[in-house]
Amino acid sequence: MVGAGLSGAVTGRLLAEAGYRVTVVDARDHIAGNCHTRRCPETGVLVHVYGPHIFHTDDAEVWDYVNRFERFLPYKNRVKATTGGAVYSLPINLHTINQFFGKTLRPDEARAFIEEQADTSITDPQTFEEQALRFVGPALYEAFFKGYTIKQWGCHPRELPASILKRLPVRFNYEDDYFSHRFQGMPETGYTEMIGRILDHPGIDVHLNTRFTRDQSGRYAHVFYSGPLDGWYEYDIGRLGYRTLDFERFTYDGDWQGCAVMNYGEESVPFTRITEHKHFAPWETHAGSILYREYSRACGPEDIPYYPIRLVTEKALLRRYAERAAAEGGVTFMGRLGTYRYLDMDVTIREALDTGHRFLNSREKGQEMPALTSSVS
Ligand code: FAD
Ligand code: UDP
Repeated sequence: MVGAGLSGAVTGRLLAEAGYRVTVVDARDHIAGNCHTRRCPETGVLVHVYGPHIFHTDDAEVWDYVNRFERFLPYKNRVKATTGGAVYSLPINLHTINQFFGKTLRPDEARAFIEEQADTSITDPQTFEEQALRFVGPALYEAFFKGYTIKQWGCHPRELPASILKRLPVRFNYEDDYFSHRFQGMPETGYTEMIGRILDHPGIDVHLNTRFTRDQSGRYAHVFYSGPLDGWYEYDIGRLGYRTLDFERFTYDGDWQGCAVMNYGEESVPFTRITEHKHFAPWETHAGSILYREYSRACGPEDIPYYPIRLVTEKALLRRYAERAAAEGGVTFMGRLGTYRYLDMDVTIREALDTGHRFLNSREKGQEMPALTSSVS
């Protein structure tokens, strides 16, 4: 398993339970990949080191899986947004609409009001901007989405696909849960502890501070690679585009913002959001507080890749890498970097379980495991 994140840990555990000897390597000095959490020794706050991670899923099997290794405590993500000198509730809901437009609309009235604002000439929105103008209209788009998205993606929303905005609901009631999934929660002791327990099996050896390169593949019966797809080929035909994040850490003696996540809609504010980590564990009490101001920028060769960009040029390059990958034997590409997709944790676990089962089935039948098990383009 190349990578001790969720992908490598979950597939590794499944194969170890089936009797395989599994070696997990990670270039970093810790397990858990980007889900890594660490307790701050000074304040006792559990910090989401690579940005805020909230577990949410509709997949009952995945929910049972994570609960096998960790106690999840109830947590709803209630995000706030600062824009135009006021604080609002996200995702856009009846409270946001009434507060923003200074009205007291009921659900049906709000729906009709927003429909009046919307650009109904857009029948099949293709871009982020068209999707926003069609479903919330120009005023809410400008206040909440345009500036934030320019900062987050480094390009204009008319260059981005509508699918990015489709991740967010618009609600005509007062429900302000950021996610609509049935099962949601936070790991009581942290994601790192949970992934540590997944990796804790006599058939699994973990080696940290160990970078894997393709030429080492011969030592193993099969390689499951959750590193970057283009990295497997030493980026020889170019780099797939990513956004990276810079976290500006600061501390406060008390409660700095009163919620876990505050987004900043305006382009003139250079960061996208501020995360106050102690609010992810409301069952804990800490006097001190740790906060991250989050800045997004283009990812250079030495930076950590966070968000795959997937615009037209990246997709063309991705297709070329994917064609090469599909022809490989003895390796399977997996996870958010290996398949160059934005994957939530629950989808990562689902795919890692499916990949493991597929490997066991193909071994039983004496067949070769495919290098790509999901469509990446
Ligand atoms: P990773 O966690 O990236 O693990 C890959 C590992 O491989 C890394 O540790 C890396 O060091 C290692 N590696 C790479 N190349 C090599 C090599 N050559 N040799 C050795 N090791 C190597 N999901 C949610 O469900 N909810 C959220 O709220 C949420 N928030 C997020 C916020 C941010 C800012 C980001 C970026 C993602 C968020 N996610 C969230 C998604 C979540 O982080 C991913 O689903 C998850 O990390 C994917 O796990 P992975 O194992 O595929 O990849
Ligand atoms: N978005 C925005 N304003 C916000 C929150 C989100 O414009 O306050 C846009 C932004 O382009 C983001 C997308 O909506 O990439 C999807 O939001 P989500 O919260 O899913 O972003 P992620 O979890 O990927 O950071």
